[in-house]
Amino acid sequence: MLAASVEYVNRLTPGYAGGAAFDGPADEARAVAESLAAIGYPRPSVRTEDARRLTELAGRMRIVFEAAHSGELDRAADEVNALLVDTRARPQLDRRADGWSLHFHGPDDGLVNGWAAGCAAGLALALGTGLAGRLGVCAAPYCDRVFVDVSRNGQRRFCSPQCQSRVKAAAHRARQG
Ligand SMILES: [Zn+2]
Repeated sequence: MLAASVEYVNRLTPGYAGGAAFDGPADEARAVAESLAAIGYPRPSVRTEDARRLTELAGRMRIVFEAAHSGELDRAADEVNALLVDTRARPQLDRRADGWSLHFHGPDDGLVNGWAAGCAAGLALALGTGLAGRLGVCAAPYCDRVFVDVSRNGQRRFCSPQCQSRVKAAAHRARQG
């Protein structure tokens, strides 16, 4: 679920990405479909109004990442609590072919609420179990894409290998100069 939050924030919220300004997706419905495909839930089409609502929620998820990243845990927690209320997230066991699995969608398991409630619950679990420090914002210049640090040492700083090598190359050039 944290992976879904990362995809939504990075594909739906404007800012900077990989060294260039990012105005947000030209086609929100397509960006939502791509987010789902990226985490293994390909979806052929997404309704415009669902994409609009998810884009709005992604903006609020970004606040959680940014606040947690800068150590403003009270602000992050307030936003997560608001997301939990608005998406009516509640834990529920659903039977799947391979057994029971835990979901948070509550009464509405549609595209928007199902995923947004799961994202809110994932962020709540991260904040509530001491993993807030694992929510990160890219440290590379002109990039504010987010990530979840799952490395063993918890020292991840960049959203992608591309940003990491961009920064390394710049540092190398600075040494040469
Ligand atoms: Zn980056």
